[in-house]
Amino acid sequence: MNPACGDRRGTRTGYARHRRANQSACAACKEAEARYKTPTPRPVPECGTEAMFGRHRRRGERCATCRKAVTELDKVRKKNRRANAAPRPAEPIIHVPRNVFARLYLNASIADQLHAEQHIPENRIQRCVAEHNLAA
Ligand SMILES: [Zn+2]
Ligand SMILES: [Zn+2]
Repeated sequence: MNPACGDRRGTRTGYARHRRANQSACAACKEAEARYKTPTPRPVPECGTEAMFGRHRRRGERCATCRKAVTELDKVRKKNRRANAAPRPAEPIIHVPRNVFARLYLNASIADQLHAEQHIPENRIQRCVAEHNLAA
C-alpha cells in the first residue's frame, strides 16, 4: 500500500493525508502528530533569572538569588532609562504653586523680577499675578 503522506511523511500534513485516505498513519506521521499534541514542556528557568523570579512569585516562594538578580536588572534598566532620558536642566528646579510664585514675584526687587522674566514667559507671570490679584 502506498502511504498517503507522500512527500509530507513525518509531518502533521502527512498525518492528515493518512486520515483523509482512511489508512492508519505511518510511524513517522503518528510521531509528528503526537509531538504536536503534547509539545515538549518548556524547561524550568534557572535561579538568578527574571523568569525564575516570576515563577517563584507565582508559587509564593522566596529566593534570595532570584530576588538579587532581579534587583540588579532593575538597577541596570533604571540606569539605562536615566541615560536615555532628556538632559536635566543645568540648574535645579523647584516647583511652587502659582499663588506662591505670584507673591514671591510681586515682593521681589525689580532686578529679581527681570531675572524671573528671563526664565518664565511673561504671559505666564502675568496670569499668576492676575490670579493673585483676583484672590486678594
Ligand atoms: Zn506517513
Ligand atoms: Zn530562585
